[in-house]
Amino acid sequence: MALVAKLAWRFLTEKDSIWVQILKAKYLKDENFWTYQPNGNVSASWKSIVESRIHLAKGCCWIVGNGKSINIWKDPWIPSILGFKISEDMQADHPNITWVNDLFNNYEKTWNKNLIFNMFSPFEAQRIIDIIIPAEEEEDNLIWTLTPHGNFTPKSFHLLMHSQQASHSAPILDDFPWKKFWKIKDVSPRVHTFIWRILHNGIGVNDNSSKFVEGVINECAHCHNGEESVAHLLLHCSVAQAVLFASPLNLRVRTTDSIPSVIARWIKDHDGERKFCLGACLFWSIWKSRNKVVFEKSDFAVDNMVEAAMKNFHNFFRPTRDGEDPSTLPSPNRTLGLICWSPPPTNCIKINVDGATCHLSSAAAAVARDSEGSFLGCGSDILNQSIPIVVEAHAIFIGIQLALKINSSACIIEGDASMVIDILKGEEVNTPWRIKNIMSKIKSVASTIPTVEFSYVNRKANGAAHALAKHSVSFSISDWWSADAPPSCISNILYSEKPQAV
Ligand SMILES: [Zn+2]
Repeated sequence: MALVAKLAWRFLTEKDSIWVQILKAKYLKDENFWTYQPNGNVSASWKSIVESRIHLAKGCCWIVGNGKSINIWKDPWIPSILGFKISEDMQADHPNITWVNDLFNNYEKTWNKNLIFNMFSPFEAQRIIDIIIPAEEEEDNLIWTLTPHGNFTPKSFHLLMHSQQASHSAPILDDFPWKKFWKIKDVSPRVHTFIWRILHNGIGVNDNSSKFVEGVINECAHCHNGEESVAHLLLHCSVAQAVLFASPLNLRVRTTDSIPSVIARWIKDHDGERKFCLGACLFWSIWKSRNKVVFEKSDFAVDNMVEAAMKNFHNFFRPTRDGEDPSTLPSPNRTLGLICWSPPPTNCIKINVDGATCHLSSAAAAVARDSEGSFLGCGSDILNQSIPIVVEAHAIFIGIQLALKINSSACIIEGDASMVIDILKGEEVNTPWRIKNIMSKIKSVASTIPTVEFSYVNRKANGAAHALAKHSVSFSISDWWSADAPPSCISNILYSEKPQAV
């Protein structure tokens, strides 16, 4: 099986090979590989390549380059969506929009945001515009998402196959009432996104994490009595059942229920909006409790989960700030490096960068100071994902943009994410596929500044950027601050790190 998958992978990536061109001309013609239906006489090897598609689809995703060879509707190309695809093929409604570069602004390498938000659900639209279009002319690039560097390996394929046999994947959502789902307004956007993610099986429960991370124990954090799949954690777990039953929904979960079937049932009910909002808040509450148990080793109580959900439910007209504790991104602690912040040389500025993440979103932040430790400006940006390396790379991107804003001709960009820094310094040659485009963008912006140096620092010396990122993710702030108005969340650090005048 892995051999056939490897062959299929080569078919998809070696498009200049003769054998690929022959097969394409013979069978595929102008059809899309992912949706092509074989008919009549086809060779056995071609048949097996086509049959391996279903497995291959779990790991393949395009990285947008010039956008000319990616079919918006049929190809996998959105890395932050589980399955990487647009949920509904609406080509019929948009006959002239087929290729990803049809979503670009004319002659520019930027997304046509108006068009995208008109065409797609807000969630999908946001995830599309989060994709970075490379600054240089580059071909679209198909990558295998299950290895860090994006190349197919038989071993990663075996792991994928093995994990699928063991997992309880959600059933296909063919008749799910998506239109009604998107129309629901009376729930916080954060919870709405969360529900969308659990419908796509896209939250980091142990069952999902253990497919990719060795050593993650696949056990439910609430009941310790079952594999922690999304369906278990939120529906079939004894704790979840207690919460759902104790709530005003009074729900008795049936063994045949799945997450999509329960949510679809709520939405289709005549009291759909209320039921959905209440249920969504309950799921969210269970998920947050689980995270507290996992990450803070705290206890949980069914009553508290119901109470928190009801509070959230009754607050739904304004964005929730329900005391979420943003956890910072893990980054390796090196023993080398300074333990406190040090100012840059004269005539040079230093920009510290860092990221912080809350379960579903993250912030990237950058803080600039001069050789006297005086504040020159800072910036932060919210991301709709929490993959550490993406957030760390984005923090550097914010840093380099800050350097441009300040008009700096010499700057040091300093952060505690060693891998990203090593790549920019040229000490690490393999760039993970997830950050390939943003790294090329960082390099291209950096090339417009006379002197830029990237440097690693111990996280203890990166306090200002860290505090700003943490504050920004807690309050969903994307903003720039100028030299005369530093945000209050970092003013103490700026003061204490300022070198004392002699
Ligand atoms: Zn459980």
